[in-house]
Amino acid sequence: MTPSFRIAVLPGDGIGPEVMAPALELLRTAAERVGLALATEAHPAGAVCWRETGAALPKATMAACAAADAILLAAMGDPAIRYPDGTEIAPQLDLRFDLGLYAGVRPVRVIPGVQIPLADPRAAAIDLVILRESTEGLFWSRGRGEVLNDAEARDTLVITRATTARLSDFAFTLARTRRGRGGKNLVTCVDKANVFTSFAFFRRVFDERAAAHPDVQAAHHYIDAMALDLVRRPWAFDVMLTENMFGDIISDLGAALMGGMGYAPSADIGDAHAVFQPCHGSAPDIAGRGIANPTAMILSGAMMLEWFGERHGEPRALRAGALIQRAVDAAFADGRLVTPEHGGTAGTRAVADAVGAAMAALDPAAVAA
Ligand code: ATP
Repeated sequence: MTPSFRIAVLPGDGIGPEVMAPALELLRTAAERVGLALATEAHPAGAVCWRETGAALPKATMAACAAADAILLAAMGDPAIRYPDGTEIAPQLDLRFDLGLYAGVRPVRVIPGVQIPLADPRAAAIDLVILRESTEGLFWSRGRGEVLNDAEARDTLVITRATTARLSDFAFTLARTRRGRGGKNLVTCVDKANVFTSFAFFRRVFDERAAAHPDVQAAHHYIDAMALDLVRRPWAFDVMLTENMFGDIISDLGAALMGGMGYAPSADIGDAHAVFQPCHGSAPDIAGRGIANPTAMILSGAMMLEWFGERHGEPRALRAGALIQRAVDAAFADGRLVTPEHGGTAGTRAVADAVGAAMAALDPAAVAA
């Protein structure tokens, strides 16, 4: 029997639909080549949806997301469309909270052939994963902050034992999975434990969980020192876990290390659900021009297939994910596919076509998952 998975597709706003369309084509091709069935259904959500219907994440969309095997999301939000209090429409954050997607997985891997900002030859070996806690931290305060007498504003940062322990276990398991693929068997806890009670607690819970995973090396780093070292020697790190706001910031730094927002995939994973989406937003500044880089979206789709493979013990899904990743690597390998972020002319269609052609030339049976 052909294994099959149901995917709730949320194209969203701005460049979202532009990068989602080619990513879905490539996902379907990869699935067909390994003998996997993917049932995809698109649902409305986002800033335009809010303006037109009054709901940023309609109930029917939420129900479809909860019922699906995974959610594939492109980008949501538009600075020109805001709630009455001035904040932006960000239903992707609601999904993370409502579905308990505590592990924000942000791989930072340099694709050979893509221009990167660091000149040091060791930068070609950058291959780390930022694990951003995605349901609490400073983002706990979203919608709860207060301004007192127009004189003082407060937001609260929340760290819980349960989530920190789960995220730590996730990090150690990930490091263990990665060590067979060149990972450094290292988890670094990134915090500000020298100043804040909340981060001292975060570190204490991390250390407790580290003791339960003695086969994986555990280390600590302060967030400010990590900002320095992510530029100075990012090749030295493997898995790093951090609080929501810190993770939000260093994820963008990570995206820059690999060539820009258009190259950075991500996943938000919980115990029962997962959303796969590029790190970038809806990029209204380039929407509608056919120049959005679909690579981050395509690689997020590959992460989804790999997650299916690991979660359901389905080797065909693992092979389909690996096939897409190899095809992306092959498309960029000779350095001639240059996207507009780097002054080139390879727009959305050109990148998707190059990845498609590279995939056609690969033998799925020879691609090791
Ligand atoms: P959000 O807060 O929703 O994550 P943001 O404000 O961080 O969004 P983005 O929409 O990610 O902003 O855009 C940041 C910059 O990166 C913009 O200049 C945008 O054009 C560029 N960018 C984002 N995604 C892509 C892409 N896929 N291809 C090319 N450039 C992109």
